[in-house]
Amino acid sequence: MSTLKITNPATGEALAELLADDATTVSAKAQRARAAQPGWSAVPLAERKDCVMRFRDALAAQVEALAATLSLEVGKPITQSRNEVNGLIGRIDFFLAQCERSTATETVLAEPGITERISHEPLGVVGNISAWNYPYFVGGNVFVPALLTGNAVLYKPSECAALTGQHIARLWHEAGVPADVFQLMVGAGEVGAALVAQPVDALFFTGSYTTGMKITQGVGRRIVKLQLELGGKDPTYVCEDVDVKTAAESVADGAMYNSGQSCCSVERVYVHEQIHDRFVAALVETVRGLRVGDPMDASTYIGPITRAAQVQVLQAQVADALARGATLQVGGHRIERPGNWFEPTVLTEADHTMELMREESFGPIVGVRKVGSDAEAVKLMNDTRYGLTAGVYTRDEWRAKALLSQLNAGSVYWNCCDRVSPRLPWSGWGDSGIGLTLSTYGIQAFTRPKAWHLRTP
Ligand code: NAD
Repeated sequence: MSTLKITNPATGEALAELLADDATTVSAKAQRARAAQPGWSAVPLAERKDCVMRFRDALAAQVEALAATLSLEVGKPITQSRNEVNGLIGRIDFFLAQCERSTATETVLAEPGITERISHEPLGVVGNISAWNYPYFVGGNVFVPALLTGNAVLYKPSECAALTGQHIARLWHEAGVPADVFQLMVGAGEVGAALVAQPVDALFFTGSYTTGMKITQGVGRRIVKLQLELGGKDPTYVCEDVDVKTAAESVADGAMYNSGQSCCSVERVYVHEQIHDRFVAALVETVRGLRVGDPMDASTYIGPITRAAQVQVLQAQVADALARGATLQVGGHRIERPGNWFEPTVLTEADHTMELMREESFGPIVGVRKVGSDAEAVKLMNDTRYGLTAGVYTRDEWRAKALLSQLNAGSVYWNCCDRVSPRLPWSGWGDSGIGLTLSTYGIQAFTRPKAWHLRTP
């Protein structure tokens, strides 16, 4: 059997070597999931909820250990790892509170002789191929509602978050979910591809556009429900009426949290010309103050780049931007120490000929561009093939709403950014994906409606 080596991105040191799955074990797991799913779906919802509650309570009891593993293998600063585990608890509470209402059978016609009903049936066997940057969030958006609604889950965490994946599988089994109903698959892309090849009922994928396209091709002519949550190139527009320091601090956090490795990180900033220079000065001052260091240190804000190869992407984007006329305000270089590190970086005079403003950076780097009007800002914000999130900073509510209504993105923000709520649907437009998770729609996404036409004899 092959193995998967886990490396600490902050030091380059080996952390663990795990037995990996292959096409044969993936196929056997898929068959076991198929056999186990009807039994799980027959378990009363109240009992499935009890399992989810026990999983939730175990997360709460083990936050420290779970956060430490996440920080070690992904390099996420420990405070942010704790935030993520605690954040999943909040999402679970939402799912627990809403699942009954969202999936209750509804009678839509009750007349003498005829009744019409809609019931929500589980999809069946769900493949869950996940990213490493928020393994608890992006995994939990799928496996929690999928299990609650009676599906079996084949969970393939990222190869960069496999130790976390092992914790998650252990916690589900300890919480009472049968071993065959929630199964872990360890490995990299080839294990994901083997999962895509199985006769599953649905595939929920979170990751890059490139892999999303491979999965789409892998599904091919089969009728499988496919959801893709992909990357972004998320913009924000800072109007001239804001408190400059407050807006700069919020944008810096949106661009740099999780070391810029969020699907909804702010990656493009458009600033009204009346405040451009003052805003840039405040942004640069904030970014200079971000503490780069050991992810296990609670005061660290910026950790390493999780994937070694992404450092070269960041270097290439900076070089391309500088060659095309951008100005480097701060950062711009690899940090020379063991592991994968990159300085928090701000580039101004950025334009749309630059990769920096077109392709996902996925690191602590942001491009800034001066604009002369709201119309110009909207045009530039929408000049992208992606459409995950977009935001506006202004004191003027009417102006904000007028601007947000023109933006092509699944989530829009007024005076905030890089924000996800369990109560709201999370969906990408354009090349940021198809389908959604979260909100009550993100519970129903794991069910299919059955229409009942009942005529009394
Ligand atoms: P990735 O595409 O490299 O990998 C994602 C998953 O796909 C991993 O589990 C990987 O092993 C698997 N995989 C790789 N090749 C495969 C193949 N051929 N067939 C099947 N599975 C395969 O992405 P990543 O580096 O883990 O995550 C970063 C990306 O995810 C970024 O683009 C980010 O924007 C995106 N993301 C999006 C959201 C969202 O909600 N829209 C959330 C988090 C991350």
